[in-house]
Order: sequence, then structure tokens, then C-alpha cells
Amino acid sequence: MPTGRYEAVIGLEVHAELRTDSKIFCACSTRFGAEPNTQVCPICTGMPGVLPVLNRKVVEYAIKTGLALNCEIAEFSKFDRKNYFYPDLPKAYQISQYDLPICRNGYIDIEVEGRKKRVGITRVHMEEDAGKLLHQGTIASTPYSLVDLNRSGVPLLEIVSEPDMRSPAEARLYMEKLRSILLFLGVSDCRMEEGSLRCDANVSVRIQGQQGFGTKTEIKNLNSFKALERALEYEIKRQIELLEDDESVIQETRTWDESQQATLSMRSKEEAQDYRYFPDPDLVPLIIDRGWVEEVRSSLPELPDAARERLMRQFNLPEYDANLLTMTKDTLDFFDECMQYYQDAKTVSNWIMGELSRLLNQHNLELKDAKIKPAHLTEMLKMIDSGQISGKMAKTVFEEMFVSGKSPETVVREKGMVQISDEAALEPVIARIIAENSGVVEDYRKGKEKAFGFLVGQVMKATRGQANPKVVNDILRRMLVDGQ
Ligand SMILES: [Zn+2]
Repeated sequence: MPTGRYEAVIGLEVHAELRTDSKIFCACSTRFGAEPNTQVCPICTGMPGVLPVLNRKVVEYAIKTGLALNCEIAEFSKFDRKNYFYPDLPKAYQISQYDLPICRNGYIDIEVEGRKKRVGITRVHMEEDAGKLLHQGTIASTPYSLVDLNRSGVPLLEIVSEPDMRSPAEARLYMEKLRSILLFLGVSDCRMEEGSLRCDANVSVRIQGQQGFGTKTEIKNLNSFKALERALEYEIKRQIELLEDDESVIQETRTWDESQQATLSMRSKEEAQDYRYFPDPDLVPLIIDRGWVEEVRSSLPELPDAARERLMRQFNLPEYDANLLTMTKDTLDFFDECMQYYQDAKTVSNWIMGELSRLLNQHNLELKDAKIKPAHLTEMLKMIDSGQISGKMAKTVFEEMFVSGKSPETVVREKGMVQISDEAALEPVIARIIAENSGVVEDYRKGKEKAFGFLVGQVMKATRGQANPKVVNDILRRMLVDGQ
């Protein structure tokens, strides 16, 4: 995106719902998709006289995430009440962390056009989610609103970055990297379409090289990578145009309108909320034992960066392959399992990046929901190596395995696809083709190499593609030279 003499300054606030069985302060289920208001109790709606009890798993997940994001884990942190009125929040405050969050001062490394770039993480804090309003149509035109409180009290981590990103593409790379780290950790399912990973973006523009910041706007609730990138592109262009026209950017909260592909004003700073934060009197301060932090640190799984380095070192894979294979934990696990049964990493990688990802896209499936098994892919590769099937047949076999989950042996048997490598079986066929194409044979003997290809093609056709091309080549050369 050409921005001329301007540059953008972007910071992201990402909300990730944690994958715990129960909510952050009560025992209600966090399962997504249940009937509205069936997973609610007096604690998550803040009825008078109830007491929240902190879910230990949430703290563990927060520590885990903080460590993976290279943060300091606070020994002392506390919970605060963030007060505001909105119909999806019956108790009129959200329990969050204000001045003493659990994690601070971390970073994520992203790869921008071949260079490593470090994006600072200001803080990571724990909070509870609010409920959800349901409208018929848009919020502006709906005749009524319904409220579903199943989500209230679902644990969230808010991950706040430094304003270190300079383009929508960098913001997207950061968000993708963050998502893959959370997925590798297993702390969130990060389903953006279900709202379990969402993001607010702060953006301003300034003249290149200038030190100070311009006036920023905040774009709320971006729930896909595409929305994030498009909204930022639109907003940066809008702000530059204002400045070019000698107008000023107003500090305000905006929303991304998918149908208009534009950001729209929600509220200005004058109307901004004063949240009147104060320490939650029902929750004791959180003192985290260093031994626990070290225990969590030693339980951290391999993370995307380390996995990528390992694939390049251990299997000699190109960086491009290593990047793609570590995009999700499922892909990496699939690859690693294949390598238990098969030697050639590059061939496995080619099948995963090629046919497998093509079929996943075509069927709109995620790898974990697909029927194909690593052992089946590697058995199929061994069948190619031994000449039982051709590379071309393998594509058909693979597609059938993908759809049905059958083993390659079963597919090959059911489809009668075995490659014919037996010379005794092929010789009579080849002899017949030579006899039927005397003109072409003449051409070949006069030095026309193209004629040879034609004869191979005829043999393949006669055997319905099942002849082993290499064996056909050998026999055909021999017969033509011997003049039989
Ligand atoms: Zn509850």
C-alpha cells in the first residue's frame, strides 16, 4: 500500500478466550453453541451476596502464555473492577486487571520480507468475557435485542502489543504468529469465526522519520485476518487524506463495516468512558509462587519458531517448507508422525503442502477433521518407491484415502490400480504395438525421437495407464534395437 511520505503506527489488543472447561470465577460450562442462557449462574451474573472463586487453570494458562511471549510473570498481581453499563453485563462491571497485570514486557518475532522484526508485548492480563446481544438484522434497524449470558464469565486473556507495527501486513503477521503460539500452547482454540480470538487495533499516521505519534483511532472487534488488514488499510488511507487536506484526525472509537468495506465512527473521546477502576474487594491479590512458574516453564511445548528451526536442521527442509509445516500444530504433528515411518522429508513435505492442502481447501476442512492418516500417506509413498503404483496413480489413491480414510492397499485393490512392472506381462503388449505401428517404427529408426514417445503412449493406453513407464521404456528400446 503506497503511503507516500507517511508511515503508520499500529498497536493491537487481542482477546483470546481460554479453553478451560469452566468459567473464570464459577463452575459454569464454557462450551460454545449451547442453548442461550443455559450456562449461567448467580456468580457469573453477579447477583448480590455471591463470591467469585478464581479458576486455577486460568492462572496457569496466563503464566504459560506469558512465558511463551517472553514476558515477566508478576509475583504480585490483583483483580480490578472495570465499571460500565451495557445490557450484556448485568452486574455493570467486568472483573479485569488494571495496574498490576500478571504478565509484562514480552515480545514476538515476526518475519517481514526476509528480515526478523521484534514486536513488543506491553502486557497480558486476565479478565472475564461479557454476554452477547443478539439482534434481528443490524443493531440500527432491529426491532428488539435479546441477551445470551452463556459467554459471561468465560475466561479471556487480553494481549496488548507496543505500537511497533508499521503496516497492515505487519499487523497481520503479528496476529498470525500470536494465534499459532496460542494454538501450540493449547490454551485457546482461537476460532475467529466463533469470536474466541478477536482484536482491536490502534492506528495513527505520521510523517516518515518523525518521532512523536499522531492522533490515533481505535477500530473495535476485528474478527478475521482479512478484516484486520482491510480495516487498517482503509483507516490509514482515511487519516492520510485528512492530514493532506489540512484537517485533523479525531481521537475516537471506530467500527469496521464489512458491507461498506469502511471504518465508521462509534464514539468520540468526549464520550469516552471513565471506567472508575478499583480493586475487586471479593478477590484476594494473586501471589504467584516462583516454583509454580518454573514448573509451567518446564512443561512448555515446542513453539512454532523452535519447530521451524528443528525442521530445517533435522530434516534439511527449505525455510519455505518449514514455515508452512509449522503454521498449525496439527500440520506439524502430521509431518512428524510421517517421519516415523518414512525417510524422505522433502517428499512428505511436498505432499502435505501440495495435494493435502489442496484437498483441505477444496473440502473446506481442517486437518484434524480430515480422515487421512500419516501412516497411509507414507505407505502410499513406499508403494510409489517400489513401483507398485505410478506417481500419477498416487494422486487418485491419495484423493480416495482423503475422502474415505481407507488404506492405500485397499484403494489400489478396490480400484484395480496395481502398476504392471512384470516384463513377461508387458512384452506381448509392446510387441503388438510395434507390429501395429510399422510406419512410426520406421520414423523412429530414421532418428525421430518423438516417435518413441508415441509408442510409449500407445502402450500406456493399451494397459489403461497401469504399465510401469520405466519398464515400458526399457523393453521398447530393447525390442526396437533388436529389431524384433
Ligand atoms: Zn456461572
